[in-house]
Amino acid sequence: MLVKNVYELIGHTPLLKLPVPTPNNSQIYAKLEMFNPGGSIKDRLGMSLIENGIKQGQINMGTTIIEPTAGNTGIGVALAAQKYKLPVILVVPEKFSFEKQTLMAALGAKVINTPSIDGIKGAIAKAKQLAAEMTNAFVPLQFENQSNPDVYERTLAPEILADLDNLQLDALVAGAGSGGTFAGTAKGLKAVYPDLLTTVVEPEGSILNGGTPHAHLTEGIGVEFIPPFFKTVKPDRVKTISDEAAFKQVHALAKYYGLFVGSSSGAALAASLELAQELPDGSNIVTIFPDSSERYLSENIYQK
Ligand code: PMP
Repeated sequence: MLVKNVYELIGHTPLLKLPVPTPNNSQIYAKLEMFNPGGSIKDRLGMSLIENGIKQGQINMGTTIIEPTAGNTGIGVALAAQKYKLPVILVVPEKFSFEKQTLMAALGAKVINTPSIDGIKGAIAKAKQLAAEMTNAFVPLQFENQSNPDVYERTLAPEILADLDNLQLDALVAGAGSGGTFAGTAKGLKAVYPDLLTTVVEPEGSILNGGTPHAHLTEGIGVEFIPPFFKTVKPDRVKTISDEAAFKQVHALAKYYGLFVGSSSGAALAASLELAQELPDGSNIVTIFPDSSERYLSENIYQK
């Protein structure tokens, strides 16, 4: 395969028929988003946020892009901004992984940390404040920007449908941070499978199932507020997964199946296995594995 530049490699990731056994002969398929050039599902979003901003006139040649992020969206935004030679500032709560922050800087972005205790809300406020102090800055704001669900509806859902080649699909299981992946993919798949059971995954410490907010080790998913994208696409189920259950699957996927995935993928698999037990025998479940464990090695992901 000959490619002209790295940015062309975004998307068209493999869908793995997971050899993991389920209690009732259900089959789990996992979209391996670590194969994007920036290493995660959020490369798709980064490119879309920048290109839509340019199209809509919010970004011109001298615009500084400022985005609050847990990391992967930052890498995606930095990659896309590099293509268009735009300066980038990423506002990241300091707890997020060293590797992700290093990769953002390697791509040319300036990384500004906010206190972990202030959560993603603190990073959002800081990004808005920085933009207000500058003359030509734009905050794409993944948490509210319609490009977020739209890009997954436009790219991820059709890829899954093409890969499954008319196979009956019974359920979607996807984690939520901003909620964009879930909302867009659910909308795209439901248009073809109206009875699809859509399930969102969160860690303990996230609020979707009514739990009290607290810190968790599972990285990239978990919400402090109901994602605005859920107003139009309501999840049929919410699965709340403990850190322990998520990391157990991360370890098993490496040890038995040769797959290096991050903790949000582990949570997605744990939720898919729980859901399989509630579905008729032989159901087909598709889930998303957003990134690789390699960007969490400094957090001792295999020792947790
Ligand atoms: N997993 C990981 C590792 C992520 O970085 C993200 C994005 N924060 C997600 C899952 C969740 O994606 P979304 O923001 O689309 O809900």
